[in-house]
Formats: sequence, C-alpha cells, structure tokens
Amino acid sequence: MTSFLAFAKLCQNVEAVSGSLEKIDLVAAFLAGLEEAELSVACSYVMGTLFPPSLNLVMGVGSSILYEALAKACGCPAGQISEMLRATGDPGLVAAGIVEKRRPIGFAAFQRTEPLSIKDVYERFVAIARASGKRSQDAKVKNLQFLFSQAGSLEARYIARLAIEDMRIGIGEGGVRDAVALAFSESGADAEGVERAYNLTNDMGLVAVAARRGTLAKLSVMINHPIKMMLASLGESISSALGEIGTAAIEWKYDGARVQIHKEGDRVAIFSRRMENVTASLPEIVLAARQIKAKSAILDGEAVAIGKDGRPVAFQEILKRFRRKYNVEKLAAQIPLRLFLFDLIYLDGKSVTHLPLSERRALLEKIATQNPANPSLLADQVLSDSVEAAEEIYRQALNAGHEGLILKNPASVYAPGKRGKNWLKIKPVMETLDLVVIGAKWGEGRRASFLGSYRLGCRDTATGNLLDMGFVATGITDEALAELTDMFRELILLEKGMEVEIKPAVIFEVAYEEIQRSPNYSSGYALRFPRMVAVRDDKSLEEADSLERVVSLYKGQRGRSNSV
Ligand code: AMP
Repeated sequence: MTSFLAFAKLCQNVEAVSGSLEKIDLVAAFLAGLEEAELSVACSYVMGTLFPPSLNLVMGVGSSILYEALAKACGCPAGQISEMLRATGDPGLVAAGIVEKRRPIGFAAFQRTEPLSIKDVYERFVAIARASGKRSQDAKVKNLQFLFSQAGSLEARYIARLAIEDMRIGIGEGGVRDAVALAFSESGADAEGVERAYNLTNDMGLVAVAARRGTLAKLSVMINHPIKMMLASLGESISSALGEIGTAAIEWKYDGARVQIHKEGDRVAIFSRRMENVTASLPEIVLAARQIKAKSAILDGEAVAIGKDGRPVAFQEILKRFRRKYNVEKLAAQIPLRLFLFDLIYLDGKSVTHLPLSERRALLEKIATQNPANPSLLADQVLSDSVEAAEEIYRQALNAGHEGLILKNPASVYAPGKRGKNWLKIKPVMETLDLVVIGAKWGEGRRASFLGSYRLGCRDTATGNLLDMGFVATGITDEALAELTDMFRELILLEKGMEVEIKPAVIFEVAYEEIQRSPNYSSGYALRFPRMVAVRDDKSLEEADSLERVVSLYKGQRGRSNSV
C-alpha cells in the first residue's frame, strides 16, 4: 500500500523540475512501482481530474468548502486563510501553511494512527463526490476536515489542490500519456498505443492498468465511457473543400451543442463535448435517444434549441440547459432541445469507428428512421460534388439561422479526438471589432512577468465611457507579449492584485467566434473565443467600435432567435 505522502513527494518533485521530459520520467518511475488498484487512482491524481467521466462523479468542492474544512480541522480563523490566500494565490500553499500551524481540535484530536494512503484519500474523495442533497455541504466539509486533520503539511498541499482539481504541477494529459507509456514499455506500451486507448475510453487509469498488463490493443469503445469526439478543420471555401474531398457528405453545421449519447436498452447517458455527464439536465434528449432501434448504441449529434420563431437560440442559452441541476423540467419547457444525429460510433456491442462514414450513416439511418413523433432525430445529409448544390445548402443553413456547413469525406473512419481534413467546416467570416484596452492581468507561471490578458472596452457614444467586454488572451505571441507589456507598463493607472487598470490609449483589432449577451460586463456583451489580430496604432480612440455596432453585429449573427 503506497502512502499519500509518497504521492505528495512525487508532486513536489515534479513541480520543482522544469523540463517536461524530467517530469515524465519522475511520474513514470512512480507509476511503475504502484499496485494495480493504486495505479488508476494515481493517474487521475496526476492529471488533476479525480474521476473519469464514466463514473459520473463530480467533486463539487469550491474554495468556501475547502477553507471551511481547513479552518475547522486546524482551528484557525477564516480571516487568516484569506490573508494567506491573498499573499500566495495558491490554495495548496495555504493549506500547507495552515496545517503546519495546526491547533488540534475536533477531528484533529484523533491520534493519527497510520499514515494516509493513496487509497484512503481516494475513498474520502469518493464520499465527498457522492454527498448530495441538503446536507451535502456538511458532508463534504467533514470528509475534507478529516483528511486535513490527518495530513502533514506536504500532504495537505496536494489534498487541497486535488479537492479543487487544480494540481499546478505542470504535467497534463500528454505528459501522463507519455509517462504511462514509459512506465510500461516492457509490457509493450508506447505513446501512440496509450493515446489511442485514451481517446477511446477517456479513462487514463483504465488505460494504465491495460498498459501494465500488456492488453492496451484490446481496449476499445465501451458503453458509458465517452469517446473523444471527432472534430472538424476549417475549410477555405466550398469549392476548395469539394476539391479536396471530391463527392462529399454535405450537412448543415447546426448551431447547437455537441452531445454524445450512450444507449443500452432504456438506459441513456449523455456526454457534452467536454465529457461531462449531462444526462440529468436533458430529459427530452434521453426520450429521443430511447427511440433509437438498437440494443446498444453510441451516437454523435448536436442538441439544438429552437426558439418560438423557429430559429436556433443563442449557444449560451443551450449551455444554461446543460448546466442546470435543479428545476430541470421548468427550464426544459422554456428552452426545449431537439436532437440532430449525424454519426454512429458503436452498435449492438461493437465499435463501428473503423467503418467508412457512408456505412456508419446507413446503419444510423436504419436505427434512427425519422419518426413522426420526433422528425428531427437525424441530421439531413446530401451526397454531392457540385459546388452549386453545396452553396444552395449553405444558403439554406444560414437562412435557417445555423452556422454553415460541414463537408465530410464519406470514406473516412471515425477518428476520435482528431481535427483532421475529413470533416471541413464552412462558416461566414465574422467581422472583427476594434476595441480599446482598458485593463490587463499579470500572467501565471512562465508568463508571470508579463501582462498576459487584456480587458477590452467598446465606446458608449452617448457618454463617451468605455464599456467592458471581457478579456482577450489568445493570438498574442511570446515576443508580442514582452513588447505589449513594456508598452502597457507605462499606462498602468491602478494595480488591484493580479489586475491592473490601463489608461485607454491602445486599440486591439479582435476576431471572435460569436458575440454573446453577458450580465458580467458593463457593456452587457462578451466575445466568445476572442483572438487578438493586430494592434491598431493607426486608429484613434474615437475610431474604436461603439456599443451600437456590437449590438448590431450581435443581432445580425445568422439571424438568430431573440425569442428566449
Ligand atoms: P467547431 O466547434 O467550430 O470546431 O465545429 C465543430 C462542431 O460543430 C462540432 O463539435 C459540433 O458540435 C458542431 N456541428 C454542428 N453540426 C454538425 C454536423 N453536421 N457534423 C458535425 N459537427 C456538427
């Protein structure tokens, strides 16, 4: 049985070295020495995601629960905790510091008999995740309190970080994949095999155990284990996409949210693009999935919310549905979802990922035949190599308020987690916005001495004020970051912790995927996936875009429904 302290020491060492190869070596050596049952837990720990999506467990621990547990376990006032947090910015260091100075009370009065093991900590985490209902907060606090009362300061540092699933040791999915491959290379594991198995199962623990047993190649798609979704690349134009693919399977790019549906008999599980289990939030999709004529199936598709005017409603409204835990039915009545299935991954006990799309589609059509009760189960698909035909479908999709087209290669296999050339998306190019930089945030880690993200504002023509539209952090190279930091350093008006207020003087041209309504910003709008395109030295503040332009672009977005 391996102690949690040994794991904490590993994390400390991994955190201390900077090279990713060194980190991988350390993790690999640790994993290789574990018992099988600990191995799967340790993999999840290192990745900082405690439970694979198949378990449908969510920790639900935020800073308030964490600090309450710490305060109770160590008998320290809450004020001290927030002070330390302000000084360090790291909940792990705060926990370590508080435990160091612990005054034994309550649970802490228990003598620590044996050191905490990896398994002990995991069992408490499972209890925390399982706690539900009215008293769940108390149960979560009590379990964490117990752990902190038993932990030394190094253990506390990583218990705290695990509890909020933010490990900060600088190794991600790719690093753990390489570490698993290295640890079990003698059993035949390699990085490619581990990646393949992980893309199919999304469960690194399961993959590591298989790697150790030498059975990696046998891992395949499994019901209730979400598989990484196949993704689309951006096509240049309809004609170039058809030029690449030839005769293509042409589908609307629906304006909704991706869903992966696992059906076994009447049992249905639905996973979001981020692999969250969202089944409980989407009752009408569960009902729709039950109509599928198969014993078991994994289906891929888009959940779309259609407004009263027949047009798709904004993506953020759909997200509300995905996130809703209580009063689901009430929100479902306000924002009903419809399902458009476009792919089949698994059927009656077997993976069909290796079949060409044309065959998968034929199977999908058989099991999801249009049903008068739910005519929208299947996404429409047209096979064609004609630019005119594709352009006509594109116009229809945009007229209906959707995003554009996806052109798919009918001969392609289902490639989990891959953004390849077999799915090409065609969307109208969004006009960019010219916005004023009104604030910034200092970066973290490698970017700590740079201003890494920039707060943007649009002009309120009535008052002349600049209205907040949120931050942009992408599209900025490391070199540009240094230059921008130097430039903005001179313009800092006020420092508030990690954030600074900037004297409005510089305009960024910003591209984005979509404009969304947002109560969080004074403009009332935010950009989805903003990306800095250029610094517009050539523009004066008065030339920055106004709120009116933002609103008009928002309204013009693919003729979206305003009915919700
Ligand atoms: P993007 O998010 O821009 O990379 O585009 C890919 C997303 O488009 C997928 O993840 C789906 O959620 C969505 N989508 C909408 N319609 C389709 C379709 N017919 N086939 C595949 N993906 C689609």
